[in-house]
Amino acid sequence: MSIADNLKQYKSEVESDRVKLIAVSKTQSVEAILEAYEAGQRVFGENLVQEMVEKQEQLPKDIEWHLIGHLQTNKVKYIAPFVKLIHGVDSLKLLQEINKQALKNKRIIDCLLQVYIADEDTKFGLAFDEVIELLRSEEYQALQNIRIVGLMGIATNTKNEKQIATEFNELKVFFEGIKISFFHKDDAFKEISTGMSADYRIAIEEGSTMVRIGSSIFGKRIIKHFKNLSAN
Ligand SMILES: *Cc1c(COP(=O)(O)O)cnc(C)c1O
Repeated sequence: MSIADNLKQYKSEVESDRVKLIAVSKTQSVEAILEAYEAGQRVFGENLVQEMVEKQEQLPKDIEWHLIGHLQTNKVKYIAPFVKLIHGVDSLKLLQEINKQALKNKRIIDCLLQVYIADEDTKFGLAFDEVIELLRSEEYQALQNIRIVGLMGIATNTKNEKQIATEFNELKVFFEGIKISFFHKDDAFKEISTGMSADYRIAIEEGSTMVRIGSSIFGKRIIKHFKNLSAN
C-alpha cells in the first residue's frame, strides 16, 4: 500500500472528535511527507530539531509541526518560530527556555509534560510527584509565553497488552486529577498524547487524544549506517 493509502486508512480508523493523528515522519523524505500532505495530512511529528527545521523550510507552511522527541534547551531557539506543539517537556529548565524563546518570537508555545509511565529505565519523563511540584512552583506560574495543554506518555515496549493498558490508564487518571487541581477553568488543557504504531488501539481505549504513528504509515525507517570503507 502507498503512503497515501496507509494514511487514509489510519485517519479514518483513529480520528474522531476526540482523537487526532500525528503522522510521525522522522527519517522520512520530504517527498514522502508531501505524499501524506497531498492525501490530506497536516500534522507531522519529528524527533530531531535539525531535521524538523530543514523539512519545515521546504514544505508547505500550513503544516503543523510537533516535536515529539527529547528536546535539549540549547536547541529550542531553532524551532521556536514555528513549532505547533512540544510533546516531551520534562523539566522546569526546559519550560523556562521555551518561554524565553517564545517571548522573543512574540508567541505562546503549547507544550505537553512528558510523564514517566513505563516500567523501563529511561532518562526522560517526569514522575507524577514531579509534575505536581512543577505546576505548584512560582517559577512555572511566572511563565507567560508557554501554555501546558496536556500530558504525554510512552508505555513499556512489551507484548503484554494488559500492562500497556494499565500504564495508559494511570496516565489518564493522573490527567483527570491534574485537570481538577490546576487547570479547572482552562479548556485548553485537554490533550493526552499516547499511542504509537504498536499500541495506538489500546491508547485510544484508554483516553488518548493524540496518537503518534510513524512506521505503519510511512513504512520502515531508514537507519543510517556509518561504515568505514577504507578499513576493508
Ligand atoms: C518514533 C516515535 C513514534 C512513532 O513510532 P512508530 O512505532 O513508528 O509508530 C511515536 N512517538 C515517539 C515519541 C517516537 O519517537
